[in-house]
Amino acid sequence: MNELTKRVVAFREARNWKQFHNPKDLAISLNLEASELLELFQWKSSEDAISDKYNDLSDELADVFYYTLLMAHDVGIDLEKALLDKLEKNEMNYPVQKAFGSNKKYTEL
Ligand SMILES: [Mg+2]
Repeated sequence: MNELTKRVVAFREARNWKQFHNPKDLAISLNLEASELLELFQWKSSEDAISDKYNDLSDELADVFYYTLLMAHDVGIDLEKALLDKLEKNEMNYPVQKAFGSNKKYTEL
């Protein structure tokens, strides 16, 4: 993760783009990239979108990851720790014996 973060930060620094990357605009950009990902599925079955737009899907996922790494870096979040902490919370909210095979939100389990 650190190597990837160093790489995306170096990419940005080389272009002098940090000046545009305040947390609000990074959050907006992350969301826009997630929307571009979503757009690939519009009016198609999941299977068709994945088979027809596989390279685009890869690009949009990478774009979301790019902004996620930059935002975590800029606001000082250890993304690896954040994910592990969140998984722990989800394990508490969704105990296997209650959540197995269920699509209910934890508040409804
Ligand atoms: Mg994109």
